[in-house]
Amino acid sequence: MIRIEDILAGQRRAIAKAITLLESTRADHRAEGDALLTELLPHTGKSLRLGISGVPGVGKSTFIEALGLFLIERGHRVAVLTVDPSSSVSGGSILGDKTRMERLSMDERAYIRPSPSGGTLGGVAEKTREAMLVCEAAGYDVVIVETVGVGQSETAVAGMTDMYCLLQLPNAGDDLQAIKKGVMELADLIVINKADIDAAAATRAQAQITSSLRLYGFHGHDPHEGKTWHPRVMQLSALKSQGLDQFWNAVGEYRALETANGRLAHKRQHQAQAWMWDRIHAGLRQQFSQAPAVRAVLADITSQVLGGTLAPSTAARLLLNKFSSGDTSHA
Ligand code: GDP
Repeated sequence: MIRIEDILAGQRRAIAKAITLLESTRADHRAEGDALLTELLPHTGKSLRLGISGVPGVGKSTFIEALGLFLIERGHRVAVLTVDPSSSVSGGSILGDKTRMERLSMDERAYIRPSPSGGTLGGVAEKTREAMLVCEAAGYDVVIVETVGVGQSETAVAGMTDMYCLLQLPNAGDDLQAIKKGVMELADLIVINKADIDAAAATRAQAQITSSLRLYGFHGHDPHEGKTWHPRVMQLSALKSQGLDQFWNAVGEYRALETANGRLAHKRQHQAQAWMWDRIHAGLRQQFSQAPAVRAVLADITSQVLGGTLAPSTAARLLLNKFSSGDTSHA
């Protein structure tokens, strides 16, 4: 039995049990989980949700640990969650290595939870979103959601956080192709890590990436100048814990601007609605493929499509009609 008061009091065991319940795919657990979420919801939403991504080796765990320690020293409570796209494919994990963030994980003021595994990326992302709500209700005022840089998972993380930060290596500026435009467009802040290795290279990369942001139109004429946030590029060293204060100042500035102009509230509403539709689509897909009326004719209709005797669009309409009418007679 999970007691709401224990979660609100920040008891780690209750938090872990709640997240485990929400990760379960059993129907009775799901019902219990939904009831729990509904009770927790009024206590959520007060944290800053920060997305962090970057290729393996860029320094994500070093950065998150350094930032986490920096923040708890300043009175914050920090939760670190993960969307690991590999867990949905292989059941394995590229981020789940237990030795990551050892110092931070030992601190009572931090809570680190590895990525849920199994299912689709959408399923993994949904569980992370729900875990985020539990952590917020438990009083963590900074929730960091981490992912590796592989397209879809970055979009998923940007879609559940207030601010999305992309970590880059100092040499990335030499090869801007390495930063895909789509990912650039998601980023509110681009952080060049490992600036301690070669300060000149980091500064060069910063200039190059800044000018490419302009190319993408982020810095054109803006009548709201000073009232809305423009994506920025900065450099730091996670290993030496240098530049963390500038990073946190930038986050604070982002939050203040985007709160004052109403865009942050709007973004969260939009994210909540998109999340709902995402789950509706996933649920419908599952119901469709399991429906007896569909299963009765699917093989036959598919072979007609493959044989070129039925247009795919006609086949789709036929199957959708079968699904909505529940008619199990043969096509
Ligand atoms: P992740 O795969 O993105 O989580 O990267 P890690 O945090 O595991 O870092 C990969 C390697 O880069 C490790 O050997 C880190 O010690 C090193 N590293 C991370 N940040 C820095 C930095 O700011 N400077 C230097 N010199 N090395 C760093």
